[in-house]
Amino acid sequence: MKMPIYLQEPPEILITPEGVRTDGRGPHDLRPIKMTVGVLNRADGSAYVEWGGNRILAAVYGPREVHPKHLTLPDRALVRCRYNMAPFSTEERKRPGPDRRSIELSKVIREALLPAIFVDKYPGTVIDIFVEIIRSDAGTRCAGTTAASLALADAGIAMRGLVTALAVGRVGDWIVMDPNHDEDMYGDVDVPVAFLMEDKEITLLQLDGPLTEDEFNEALDLAMKGADLVYEMQKEALRRPYLVVERSVAGRES
Ligand code: ADP
Repeated sequence: MKMPIYLQEPPEILITPEGVRTDGRGPHDLRPIKMTVGVLNRADGSAYVEWGGNRILAAVYGPREVHPKHLTLPDRALVRCRYNMAPFSTEERKRPGPDRRSIELSKVIREALLPAIFVDKYPGTVIDIFVEIIRSDAGTRCAGTTAASLALADAGIAMRGLVTALAVGRVGDWIVMDPNHDEDMYGDVDVPVAFLMEDKEITLLQLDGPLTEDEFNEALDLAMKGADLVYEMQKEALRRPYLVVERSVAGRES
């Protein structure tokens, strides 16, 4: 019988003395990432992100009228966020519906995005953000935040800039980029970080184990380097639909 991911035996070694990880990456490598915007035509904004084995859809509705009405904020937009893992997103069927973890992650993602949104431009309205995990493979809160930020931009919501999130971690003596599932489960420390990239403001920082001050600084530097790479991909994903239009127009002229 196949065991659920979280009950599997830990791998014998998570990282070799030379720094080779269970998925063959070096300590400072990201997993393969792909991102596309505008994938759902019913939503005002959307994005699809593949990040390692993660498959994530983000959708944004709004700014629109608030229901229930009593939640309306007269001076700014209400921002709501729902993170949800599909029952088929994990090795063992996950019980559908909210649980403690998804409620926490909805809050964490909302708070990572909120500083980027010009909420005072949309008084009396609501902006709803949905993050749906179709397949999970560690780091879904970060990949979900990155996808949601793209969906907000795709919806045309006024923002200070994009939010880029990724995790770094410690596995034994190594500070590693973008922990994989083995490392998330059996590594020593996981550090999800989100940056408002415009001014490198940190909007999310979690830490689930001990790091020395030097290790923490190394982890944060590494997260910053990873975020720069992911940020370039986000900007490229937002530009891509417009580049296609440019090319097809140029094609017609010739
Ligand atoms: P993150 O996805 O942000 O790393 P966690 O550290 O809580 O969040 O989860 C790590 C991974 O564990 C998830 O990406 C997912 O693959 C797996 N996982 C989380 N919750 C469950 C669950 N209820 N059932 C099976 N796997 C789960």
